[in-house]
Amino acid sequence: MKKIRIAFFDAKEYDRQSFIASDKDEEYEIEYFETRLSEATCKLAEGSDVVCVFVNDDVNSAVIDRLTAMGVKLIALRCAGYNNVDIEYAYGKIHIVRVPAYSPYAVAEHAMALLLTSIRRIHKAYIRTKDFNFSLNGLTGFDLHGKTVGVVGTGKIGRIFIDICRGFGMNVIAYDKFPAKDSGIEYVELDELWERADIISFHCPLTDENRHMVNTESIVKMKKGVVLINTSRGALIDSEALLEGIKQRKIGAACLDVYEEESNVFFHDYSNHIVNDDVLARLISMPNVILTSHQAFLTNEALANIADTTLGNVREFFERDTCSNEVCYKCANLANCKQTHEKKCF
Ligand code: NAD
Repeated sequence: MKKIRIAFFDAKEYDRQSFIASDKDEEYEIEYFETRLSEATCKLAEGSDVVCVFVNDDVNSAVIDRLTAMGVKLIALRCAGYNNVDIEYAYGKIHIVRVPAYSPYAVAEHAMALLLTSIRRIHKAYIRTKDFNFSLNGLTGFDLHGKTVGVVGTGKIGRIFIDICRGFGMNVIAYDKFPAKDSGIEYVELDELWERADIISFHCPLTDENRHMVNTESIVKMKKGVVLINTSRGALIDSEALLEGIKQRKIGAACLDVYEEESNVFFHDYSNHIVNDDVLARLISMPNVILTSHQAFLTNEALANIADTTLGNVREFFERDTCSNEVCYKCANLANCKQTHEKKCF
């Protein structure tokens, strides 16, 4: 029987290892491409049944047209978010599946790791002691116990982050467009969250509606010294407004695993290059900004789950009528598609 062919874009060595381990019976013919999917590169998918992509591949309308013309049937996202896919345009043309959850613990734990590193100055102390500098000047932090954390988005990752924060004795307030009933979470409106929180962590999807929810106006409403954590999607924060807030000493620290222009730089080694993004360069130069390059998901458990779920999605699509992890424009709520499909979407 002819094997299903998968064109795998933005492939890293850790992807290859986890997919090879998951496809132990070699059911699939997977071709790994280091390049990202774009209009210029989609010809590499010629002859494939499936295109497998990650967070920074650009699945715009032109790419969708090219892929459908080549006979590609399925776009398999190796991630939960799908803001990089023109999902409305794709409807009726090509099916989209995703990995709705692979390890919410990985992301929530990374958010806390960034927070602790930042406020206890671990990033500074690490460099100092490597140089046998044992001075403590400038390393004073603050206790998390008793502080108020505002969590934006109380889905899988947000809830785990809340549990972790409660373990530290923090007070939790939250905002969600669809608050969970009987959860014991104190939900407040966004303006109240901006005003009350000492620390704000983002765990909601990026939509047209909440793009740049952190902007000049919302920063004005926040407490002086607020710490922002973003492990969700970069464009939730207007980076220039963030930079200005830091320069004005309004924002005490920023812990970023995502950045709105990350697709130009993240996942590549630019250590020998001049980076052209002045906002990114200035943010990185700040002593109170910690940046990791979309690494929150990167644990052994998450990689194994991503590979197993992605290949399971492909198998289900070609062998059955169902498509449990399909995302489509017409799903009950585009911003929060939790529908389990009994049939394919179209
Ligand atoms: P989820 O679907 O379980 O939860 C998302 C929550 O956000 C839901 O409760 C939903 O009601 C809420 N929401 C939707 N629109 C909102 C809005 N406009 N304002 C406030 N809340 C809103 O998703 P999850 O698994 O918890 O993931 C959250 C986000 O984390 C993903 O959308 C993705 O962007 C990001 N993520 C990042 C990484 C990483 O490596 N950095 C990995 C996985 C996921």
